Amino acid sequence: MIYNSPRGTSDYFGESIKYIDFIIKTSKDLFKLYNYSEIITPHFEYTEVFSRGIGENSDIVKKEMYTFLDKKGRSLTLRPEGTASVVRAVVERKLYSENLPLKLFYIGNMFRYEKPQKGRMREFKQIGIEAIGSDNPAIDAEAIWLLHNLFDNLGFKNLVLYINSIGCSECRRNYIKLLEEYLKPYNEQLCDDCKNRIGKNTLRVFDCKIQTCKNILANAPKISNYLCESCRKHLKDVFSILDILDIKYVHNENLVRGFDYYTRTIFEIISKDIDSTQNALGGGGRYDYLIKEFGGPELSSIGFAIGLERTMLLMQELGIRLKEDENNLLSAYLISMSNEFNSYIFKILKFLRKNKIICDSNFNIKNISKEIKFAKLNGYSHILIIGEDEFNNNLITIKDLNNYTQMKISWLDEKNKLLNLFKNPDYK
Ligand code: AMP
Repeated sequence: MIYNSPRGTSDYFGESIKYIDFIIKTSKDLFKLYNYSEIITPHFEYTEVFSRGIGENSDIVKKEMYTFLDKKGRSLTLRPEGTASVVRAVVERKLYSENLPLKLFYIGNMFRYEKPQKGRMREFKQIGIEAIGSDNPAIDAEAIWLLHNLFDNLGFKNLVLYINSIGCSECRRNYIKLLEEYLKPYNEQLCDDCKNRIGKNTLRVFDCKIQTCKNILANAPKISNYLCESCRKHLKDVFSILDILDIKYVHNENLVRGFDYYTRTIFEIISKDIDSTQNALGGGGRYDYLIKEFGGPELSSIGFAIGLERTMLLMQELGIRLKEDENNLLSAYLISMSNEFNSYIFKILKFLRKNKIICDSNFNIKNISKEIKFAKLNGYSHILIIGEDEFNNNLITIKDLNNYTQMKISWLDEKNKLLNLFKNPDYK
């Protein structure tokens, strides 16, 4: 009996691990530059954290959550996104009593019961940030700058940054009324999903991919024309800082995002290179009421999340090469001609690993040309051969697999020569 992994999940190994490591390392290095520190929250929370945080009428809460009762009958949910959990933790642990804004980042697996397709999975990884406790538009601009910088550092060139404002609760309430008025005469022509959204989560009609709905919405009133003075100024200030930073963006007046908690600035980064409904690599927005709703003080906040798998898929599709860590380029494969030489082999392995040089050994040779072929195929730069002569006289034969030059060094007197070989790519 061979088992399959559950629908919408994946196993990662080989090349994909290199991409995952690279994306995580690039993100962490950048977050540190912007003074974000890591937070790790549980993979599951009490269900109310999400139903309350994300909104009862959102697609995620209505259709996509993995919710179950534990043995004591408590309703738990595998986290479908990061923000609600982070906010729960910040309020519970009173992390807001430190210097504000509190800048946090997270990396972890999320779970949504969606219809799986390329770039859309039931278990996926998100990398996200939250800046808690500032309503300054400079923080919005800085978060967007960080998102932009992240994709730049990953090697992307052709991405588009969409930004919009969905206003504060006041201007949004007025606008939604207007939008519902506008949609009324078209009710029969709208798809079933959009019909259902009206009155509950009306703004989400802008997310609809069905052409008839899109045509109807093309002439709908735009929220940007109905923002209150203060929301209008907020958005204008975000734009002017982005201009100073020389970041290109598009004011997309039809952009809405799937969670109820968003207010004012929302943004999304999409790829022009994939013609797909799954072209959003990441997105986020401001949430000015969520902390209070979770029992904390009134603290305006902003965050974003990117999808790791979607980012990886696109990097692979576009042929974006990983910038390899230079220290990892050179590595040694030790070929031992006999089991008897293990004590010597382990001495060398210990020395190399202590000095952070990637190395491995076959321990027990079967066929030397096969071993050399294996080392080459697996990307080792050098092989170290230990035969009878080497073992008896404390020597190491080193073969450079790039140019097939060979030399012998003394283990006792020339250890540093061995290290230099791996530390300096030009050393011959
Ligand atoms: P969201 O939390 O819905 O705003 O999504 C943020 C990012 O997470 C998206 O832009 C995607 O890159 C990624 N993402 C969201 N849902 C999925 C999914 N079901 N499968 C893979 N990636 C996803």
